[in-house]
Amino acid sequence: MQKGARLHRHRTPVVNWPNVVESLHRALGYEARVSRLAAVLLLMHTIDGQQKNKAERQNISKNTGKNASAVTDKGTSTGQTQPRYTSFNGYLKEKFSARVYRVPIDAGFTCPNRDGTRAMGGCTFCDDRGSGAPTINQVLSVKEQLFTGIERIRRRFKAEKFLAYFQAFTNTYAPEAVLRSLYDVSLDHEDVVGICIGTRPDCLDDNVLNLLAEYQEKTFVFLEVGLQSAHNKTLDLINRAHSAEEFFDAVERAKKKNIEVATHLIFGLPGESREDMMETVRQVADIGLTAIKIHQLCVYKHTPMAVDYEQGRLPLLEEDEYVQLVCDALEMLPPDMVVMRLVAEGTREEIIAPDWCFEKNRIMDKIDQELIRRGTRQGSRFSPKN
Ligand code: SF4
Repeated sequence: MQKGARLHRHRTPVVNWPNVVESLHRALGYEARVSRLAAVLLLMHTIDGQQKNKAERQNISKNTGKNASAVTDKGTSTGQTQPRYTSFNGYLKEKFSARVYRVPIDAGFTCPNRDGTRAMGGCTFCDDRGSGAPTINQVLSVKEQLFTGIERIRRRFKAEKFLAYFQAFTNTYAPEAVLRSLYDVSLDHEDVVGICIGTRPDCLDDNVLNLLAEYQEKTFVFLEVGLQSAHNKTLDLINRAHSAEEFFDAVERAKKKNIEVATHLIFGLPGESREDMMETVRQVADIGLTAIKIHQLCVYKHTPMAVDYEQGRLPLLEEDEYVQLVCDALEMLPPDMVVMRLVAEGTREEIIAPDWCFEKNRIMDKIDQELIRRGTRQGSRFSPKN
């Protein structure tokens, strides 16, 4: 895939950065005035200069936003002694022997289905934060986001170690030198034990995977590759601008390099039946993924889906329907696949519907109770293909 200077092409540029690379990313938001080649050359030149200047600001602003993107999903919330699914925080605790939380970062990327490379407008469910956590402060540099996030999460959750979570937009969608610089900045903290990188399958060519494999030699690397649905008709409908085949190919190539991979699925996408959703689960269950996130479809304000919803063209799942789907899915997944999230949550400021998006804990309890009622758990109906 050809990659160029695509950072923040549709987003408000920001000034006052100590990190020159990040400054340039945002400056490239003025791409209409900068040719791609010139931008890349300028970027490379700036990175070179930036690498010589390691002096980072020490007085990080004490931003105290609520967003922590912390690993809060519970194995159980109903008092059971045995969790009925494999939790992400348990996985991290075992791996690092410490309380490890993720610090969400918006590094200024965009997406190939936003900037016209593959499509325009982005996924129809995605808002202008690019699936980033709601209180990421985009004005801050990557290093500032990291440092303020660490202090906030340390205070709130008594966290001991941290993962820099490149969450918003497509975090492998830039030239290698830019990726290197950003990843290096995020690792420049004694309590950061690795990086999580959210991306799309079409932004994982072999050069990117080689880069991630290189980082894996020196730190923990966790790759999150969005899929949402394994059905191309659905992917077309939501303007993903990549195919299911590209996803499976990217995962296979990442696995060959021993990179840990997670995926994201959404239940309740337009036109999908229960059988469609379960078929997606079946297809991802046995491809060697380390982890999975499942969300209900939430309608965010100012998105194409919000228009469809307001015009009555977008039926949404009822909460009990969703609980049944999640329990069915958990039963079909391998017992050791890490479950990172089962319910999306948000605020009334950002989400229009459904109302139960605002009651994550109650829905989580319902999922636990349903598994207990069924007498099942994650993996109860998993059958490996081989
Ligand atoms: S690829 Fe991700 S960040 Fe980009 S538009 Fe789609 S959901 Fe949003």
